[in-house]
Amino acid sequence: MKCGIGETEVREHVRKSYQKKSGEAVSKSIVTEHCREIFKKSKEWLSSLKDGAPLNWPLKREKFGKWTISERKILEERLSLLPDFVLDRNPSGIYRGFLSRNLENPAISNNETKAIIIYDPFFSEIELLQQKIISHEVGHFIFRELTTEQISEFRKLSGWSVERNQVYKLVPPIQVIAEDSRDSIDEDFANNLEFYSLDEEGLKKFNPKMLNFFKNNFPKAHKEIR
Ligand SMILES: [Zn+2]
Repeated sequence: MKCGIGETEVREHVRKSYQKKSGEAVSKSIVTEHCREIFKKSKEWLSSLKDGAPLNWPLKREKFGKWTISERKILEERLSLLPDFVLDRNPSGIYRGFLSRNLENPAISNNETKAIIIYDPFFSEIELLQQKIISHEVGHFIFRELTTEQISEFRKLSGWSVERNQVYKLVPPIQVIAEDSRDSIDEDFANNLEFYSLDEEGLKKFNPKMLNFFKNNFPKAHKEIR
């Protein structure tokens, strides 16, 4: 059987009876040969790996190239470990960029086009950081989805204050979860979200109420164990 991108072949096999978490009993059955997703939305995610430059990329001096087979494999493995609420928001394209404006930057995302660019430094990071980087970029997309109430709750919990002199201005908190969180509330949100995605303990230590905020708004799916 020929499966598509992001899918894997499941051979015909006998599935033993088992009990779902809900208590529902599933009886023994024969599962016919079929293709299944490797992880949630793996078809969408893996077919979004694109060679060349994204359409209308504003940074004209940046260069784009082709994904190598081993780089594709790395992305596939990192993505497979991300929580569902991140995988639910797949980008329009993931591009392989060279010569970033900021040489140390591992990745960047564009809210308008929903493109993610992965640069060379990404590949020298350890696995967990690579997963965090992808979650972080998706975090920027998620920030755009937030309701006014959610933004206001996040702002209060993270400690951003409003300065109303001449213009409405947000002032960053004294303590931030990552240095560049001071850049903007959007950046701070993406930084908190990457911790929630992959290091709940780290977020709990920094700000336990923030962990609750994320748990309430972005519950992690509990996977059925077979
Ligand atoms: Zn960011």
